[in-house]
Amino acid sequence: MNKKIIISIIATIIISFFTINKVFSKEKQKNINKQINIEDKFNFLGNINKKINYFKEDYLDRYISYKKRNKSLSNSDVVLHVNIGIDQNFYTNIKEAPKAGTNYVLVNKFYYLNKDYIPNNLEEIDNNYSVPGKKLVNTAKISFEFLAKKAKEEGLTIRAISTYRSYDYQSNLYNKYIKEDGVEKADKYSARPGFSEHQTGFAVDVDNKITNYNNFDTTKEYKWMLENAHKYGFILRYPKGKEHITGYMYEPWHYRYVGVNIATFIKQNNLTYEEYYFKYFDK
Ligand SMILES: [Zn+2]
Repeated sequence: MNKKIIISIIATIIISFFTINKVFSKEKQKNINKQINIEDKFNFLGNINKKINYFKEDYLDRYISYKKRNKSLSNSDVVLHVNIGIDQNFYTNIKEAPKAGTNYVLVNKFYYLNKDYIPNNLEEIDNNYSVPGKKLVNTAKISFEFLAKKAKEEGLTIRAISTYRSYDYQSNLYNKYIKEDGVEKADKYSARPGFSEHQTGFAVDVDNKITNYNNFDTTKEYKWMLENAHKYGFILRYPKGKEHITGYMYEPWHYRYVGVNIATFIKQNNLTYEEYYFKYFDK
């Protein structure tokens, strides 16, 4: 082989080696800088990543920004609130509802069901405990009937007045409300279509047949529900004082079937379903 060619090959190899090395070391430095940056952020939040098992590194910048805006909140609440999504406006960054079709499904102002979603196993509630024709998913339906039966034995009346609602039904309802009250006000008391828990088939609004459901919390039946609903797997879904988390005003009439174990835990720990979900399900 020609000497010149050999020399030029060797020279190319040497030059390539240095070039590649340079690129790699630049990349390495970049990674080190990034690491230092992340560590600073962790330090700012008191190294919460090591203490909170539902911490998500992807949300680090959101945690910091939310903490700066809410200095009095504990770090664990900062992480929880951001995971729930309430560092953002309701109805932004929306996603399809997780665990649809099960009694664990999460539907709120960030998680929706599709237009064509209809739950399986919808069954009509016994008319003794419901206005006629109201349906829930069968597990919730059976539990609700047990609950209402037990209440009746104690001389109380708990009646389902609104249960499963289709996407189209919710759409008509919401559009009626925004015509009457405007979007901002309607959003406070009504879900947008797809975002209503009633579409899951696991939510039920109740009254006592006499008092308007709006005043359900003035009744003996409400008191009974607060003490007993969890034994049948139901939770008060939109409690007082948690409006910033659920996105809904206090609704003493709206209950959600989640199963006995979760309902009991939620009641004992004074949680909303959002708080429960993002602490224990979403890791
Ligand atoms: Zn409701």
